[in-house]
Amino acid sequence: MKWLFSALLCVGLAGAQAAVPGVLTIRFLDVGQGDAVLITSPEGKSVLYDGGRSEPRMRELLTQYRVKSLDLVAASHADADHITGLIPAVQLFKPKLFLNNGIPATTQTWAKLVGSVQAAGTTGLLASPRVINLGSVKITVLPPPAGMPKTEQNLNSAGLLVQYGTFKALMTGDSETAETAGWLKTYPASFFGPIDVYKSIHHGAANGDNAAWLAAVRPKNVVIGVGPNTYGHPTETALSLYRSVRATTYRTDQSGTVTVTVQPGGAFAISTEKGSSRRPPAGPSAVPASPRPVSPAPASPALAPGVFYPNCAAARAAGVTPLLRGQPGYRSGLDGDGDGRACE
Ligand SMILES: [Zn+2]
Repeated sequence: MKWLFSALLCVGLAGAQAAVPGVLTIRFLDVGQGDAVLITSPEGKSVLYDGGRSEPRMRELLTQYRVKSLDLVAASHADADHITGLIPAVQLFKPKLFLNNGIPATTQTWAKLVGSVQAAGTTGLLASPRVINLGSVKITVLPPPAGMPKTEQNLNSAGLLVQYGTFKALMTGDSETAETAGWLKTYPASFFGPIDVYKSIHHGAANGDNAAWLAAVRPKNVVIGVGPNTYGHPTETALSLYRSVRATTYRTDQSGTVTVTVQPGGAFAISTEKGSSRRPPAGPSAVPASPRPVSPAPASPALAPGVFYPNCAAARAAGVTPLLRGQPGYRSGLDGDGDGRACE
């Protein structure tokens, strides 16, 4: 497909942080009501797609996950629950590029972000159908389709399709039915699904995910970025849609940060910061919990080799639970039921 290669972009390797060879890590960060997704390639290159609604919270998370550099920050759209946390991210790491939908907001938050981008010498990058090579990870940008009213931020959400081996993750901001319908006209359904890990549209709003869209996306696992809110997110409409496609659903308000580690080839594992009552990730390419060892994820303080957790509270605080047999920090003393998953 010609458009796919119309703009090829290589993100530079300046200041790459420690990474485990071969492993892609995607963290759906617990930023409360909002979205923030941190993507780190096996080579240690990182993208932050949205930043949540709080500057202090994002600073906390960047420290917690020992982020040393960001090559690119991306705003799905300019609403505050997506861009506020990008401000400290830009100030701290001076990323090379700031991907956005090209539609400015009239808010002070947007002005502050733009000011930070300019001060950092970061280059603005308009969302267009381009491929970004984040090391060995292929990220395809989904720009808003033609015909979206420029006054509507949600309808102009920019999406990312992340591919590593056979693994696919998809995130499309707060897009609504008109935008997903536009994408379905732009791309063949095979371009999307099946998607191994999918970010719920608009925190599980009723006007985001819809049956026609999910029929193309075919998500196996859905992560909802949500916190206390007065919008009724996630709605029963969205939750029942995810059930109807037999996806396993994760919510950051219940599970904290949700971390996906992807091996070369595409096998993946999903772990959550807290909570235990969940099923293993759905889909044939999911990594079995035991006995196959799972490589440690990059940029996580708790997954350094030789790490020792005195108890599960310590492992949870480090954001690495459940610990799978073979992972650094796993030991049978923490695995009460001996199923290869400690601190579940
Ligand atoms: Zn939002």
